[in-house]
Amino acid sequence: MSTIFTKIINREIKADIVYEDDNVLAFNDVNPQAPVHVLIIPKREIATLNDLTDADAEVVGKLHLVAAKIAREKGIAEDGYRVVMNCNEQGGQSVYHIHLHLMGGRQMSWPAG
Ligand code: 5GP
Repeated sequence: MSTIFTKIINREIKADIVYEDDNVLAFNDVNPQAPVHVLIIPKREIATLNDLTDADAEVVGKLHLVAAKIAREKGIAEDGYRVVMNCNEQGGQSVYHIHLHLMGGRQMSWPAG
């Protein structure tokens, strides 16, 4: 089932896009939890981490490469940042189209709640 992220990919709703290529899109989170909070998604609809197959290995790797690139561009790479992918209800997932959260620009706490 499509989510709001498909509408962002298709430009049916607006987002503040910070990176795009043939397979990946990244945009600022609408409800940022840190000074830098970017969502990095595959353009292919994949609901959860549980739904990944071997065929998705390359794009999932690419999500991480894009996260590091954006972190460098935003000037947070050296101080540090966090990347997180939530899975299903207890993992805190609310949009069922996989996405990497890139968060930084402040001290992150651990363990996360
Ligand atoms: P999750 O809870 O699934 O790990 O993360 C979903 C994220 O998507 C949340 O941080 C939420 O703020 C963000 N989000 C939900 N709807 C929209 C939207 O329409 N636009 C943008 N830019 N972010 C969204």
